Amino acid sequence: MWVFRIRGDFQSLDPWLPELFDRGARGVEEREGEVLAYFPDRVELPLPGEWEKLPDEDWLAAWKRDLKPVAAGRFWVGAPWHEPEPGLVPVVIEPGMAFGTGHHETTRLALSALSREVRPGMRVLDLGTGSGVLAIAAAKLGARAVAVDTDPVAVTAARANAARNRVEVEVLEGSLEAVRGPFDLVVANLYAELHQALAPGYREALAPGGRLLATGVLAERAAATRRALEAAGLAHRSEEREGEWVLMTLERP
Ligand code: SAM
Repeated sequence: MWVFRIRGDFQSLDPWLPELFDRGARGVEEREGEVLAYFPDRVELPLPGEWEKLPDEDWLAAWKRDLKPVAAGRFWVGAPWHEPEPGLVPVVIEPGMAFGTGHHETTRLALSALSREVRPGMRVLDLGTGSGVLAIAAAKLGARAVAVDTDPVAVTAARANAARNRVEVEVLEGSLEAVRGPFDLVVANLYAELHQALAPGYREALAPGGRLLATGVLAERAAATRRALEAAGLAHRSEEREGEWVLMTLERP
């Protein structure tokens, strides 16, 4: 395991966090004045920082010590060694393998929106599933969930997490082209430019009356993303924000 140390904090580096995960980061943490991004191997990164090789046990021990469970909407998301919170729907995620431990604003925005939108029996697609957290959450509310990710490591993690939560989730490698709609709900925690490129595909994948929950969008890119999704024939219904991050809900008429 390698760690890349970057000067700053989560807030100042927020726009870079999805980029770090896209380039293979398995986890990030903030420590006095710097952000540490953990990678299985060194990669090219477009920001200044220093690489350091770590023994694997150190990284795992530090990760486990610092990790706290989180609550969002009707869900509690924690690691296998945490005690679930009574009254919330538990989603247990083995941390460190893929994005989606509930510690990012966008995951929490999506969990809150799923709490509101999911009905038993719905067909739900989780596009860019990472750890599987959103698909597992939807399945726990009775949805028939399909999860897809272009990263084979995420596919493995999502399958393992679904089994750990004893829910059935169909996990596939790839993107929108790998799944067969129509879906009643598509949840996608990606990034603004990708939502814009996928806009016509979302419309195709949705059943009439079906909804898209699109997050991973920085507030400054929300208007352009909304325009692209509306231009593809989706109707904007609502928008929530946490910090710099936005989740928008759209509907296929
Ligand atoms: N769904 C999880 C959550 O909300 O915490 C993880 C979201 S993470 C920000 C984005 C995930 O999308 C990553 O696992 C990445 O591999 C995947 N991804 C990136 N581009 C993709 C694409 N074109 N199609 C499908 N998945 C993609």
